[in-house]
Amino acid sequence: MANQIETDTHAKLVKEALVQEAFKAKVFRAEKIVVDPRVRLKCRVPLCNAYGHNLMCPPNSLDLDELKEILTHYQWALLVQIKTPYAEGFLGAKKVHKLINHLEKEANRMGLVYAAGFIGGECKLCEQCVGQGSQEPCRHPFQARPSMEGVGIDVLRTAKNIGLDFEINHSPELIWNGLLLLE
Ligand code: SF4
Repeated sequence: MANQIETDTHAKLVKEALVQEAFKAKVFRAEKIVVDPRVRLKCRVPLCNAYGHNLMCPPNSLDLDELKEILTHYQWALLVQIKTPYAEGFLGAKKVHKLINHLEKEANRMGLVYAAGFIGGECKLCEQCVGQGSQEPCRHPFQARPSMEGVGIDVLRTAKNIGLDFEINHSPELIWNGLLLLE
């Protein structure tokens, strides 16, 4: 069970997510995050454009064992969802990324110093990522966040696990997900 301080902090973060532009937001036990190596396999089969080219995607990002070890140190996580019209394309990805950056900062301000954000899909802050092995470093190192899928998190099953089910490509609207590990 969460103590009162945790409960208050969680409620404030959910409220902040909804005040910003989340369509849904929920704090849940981190053990409900589904990790599956097949998700990471899908970065290579078929080969994603971001594989080996985006600094926040495999093989640059955390591997499965690292993620699993890290998750054992977290009790709580926050999943946020943003809904955007299909016609807006990747705008929703940028919106959810911005929201996760904001909520991570808020969580830090509330004392959750290990709060760490993840986004759905590859980091799209730049038109084109500088890429693996580039002489140029990441252009936004404090904002760039890892792809959930790239570290092996099954976003669909995690969302379903906590009652925030969504579908892909079955609606004129798209649902974009972001995850914040709390503490
Ligand atoms: S901020 Fe830009 S350079 Fe950095 S990981 Fe994201 S897309 Fe790549």
